[in-house]
Amino acid sequence: MSYELVDKPTYEVVGPLERFDERDNVFARERLIPGSPEERAYHVMHPELVEVDRRLAAFIEGKADVQSQEEDWMGAAFYSATFGPVAALAQPDMVDGPVSPQQVEGEPAEMARRVEKLARYLGADLVRIGPLNPAWVYSHRGRRPFFEGYRANPPLFHGIPDGYRDLKWGAPIEIPHQYAISMAFAQDDSMMRTTPSPVSDLEVGQVYARSALASVQLARYIRALGYSARAHHLRNYGVLVVPVAVDAGLGELARSGYLITKELGLNFRLACVTTDLPMALDRPVDLGVQDFCQKCLKCAENCPPRAIPTGEKVVVRGVRKWKLDEVKCLLYWRHIGWACAICQVVCPWSKPHTLFHRFVAEIAIRVPAARRFLVWADDLVYGANFEPRPEPEWVK
Ligand code: SF4
Ligand code: SF4
Repeated sequence: MSYELVDKPTYEVVGPLERFDERDNVFARERLIPGSPEERAYHVMHPELVEVDRRLAAFIEGKADVQSQEEDWMGAAFYSATFGPVAALAQPDMVDGPVSPQQVEGEPAEMARRVEKLARYLGADLVRIGPLNPAWVYSHRGRRPFFEGYRANPPLFHGIPDGYRDLKWGAPIEIPHQYAISMAFAQDDSMMRTTPSPVSDLEVGQVYARSALASVQLARYIRALGYSARAHHLRNYGVLVVPVAVDAGLGELARSGYLITKELGLNFRLACVTTDLPMALDRPVDLGVQDFCQKCLKCAENCPPRAIPTGEKVVVRGVRKWKLDEVKCLLYWRHIGWACAICQVVCPWSKPHTLFHRFVAEIAIRVPAARRFLVWADDLVYGANFEPRPEPEWVK
């Protein structure tokens, strides 16, 4: 609907945008081995984080309390089956590679149409194409695509192979592409509503595996057309995929720190391909999410460690937004032994894509005065407090 399309994204830029250093990511920090050169170098830069990072690292080292103490062979097997291959798809010659010297010419609109059709065929549920703002490119590498000695790693992965270009900790990242193709991959609602559990982890891992393969395939397709292209997925991001997706018009930044889309709510995972293939661009959208999230606190009130803010937005690297406390979130995950996705499934926007829910989404977008009522109605119909569903029989 054209009235949803806007000229600029709905996040508020209030100062110069600063690039994010991936070394500051909590998933990177928890894997800093105490006493290693990387750990020492990082904590010289950030002495204030020494204590909390030790708490994070203690879970990786197996020295901290995990609620599910018993060995869970099923969860470990699910993890290996789904997340394991994503690491293989993160190798540099998977996400990137040589470009065909023969360049296929085409109108930008036609190229965009072809790319979108192929991305959907490869498994993406939503596809939008936007500009790549250089501010969303990570400044330095912080995460490894896998970590050594972890039992779920395929046997191939021990240490960082020689020539692992731009994947060494602390290496600067430069991505010169102008365009980004953002893709959303839906998660199964019934599997996710068991969260936090090995079953929701299985679904998350499977969706990440699909998204990794599709992004790698799409980048290869574009390179075969004669244009540079790089895939970005769970184990090898070079860009912040959420603001990139907002710029492309996939959805809006929400209170929970994730992206809300009109079609899937929060219940999906993202991947993207950056490229210099000229394509017609989609426009950002205004779905009313900024106002809706002001009136709805459901994710924050259901977040067990209270990691999602209930108050006002704050300025983060030049953008005013709600700021998730990633440390609280990750400590909770590690403490219970599974990833949590409660905020994704309780969001009133995360509903099956039925005619009725599409109609309700239209009201949420078009009728600001109805938003408080919709929040109240969601509590009434689905419950204000999240209750996990039982695991499906077939996984037992
Ligand atoms: S994933 Fe769970 S712990 Fe983390 S912010 Fe969402 S609800 Fe809170
Ligand atoms: S649960 Fe409510 S406040 Fe949280 S992201 Fe969804 S709409 Fe926004």
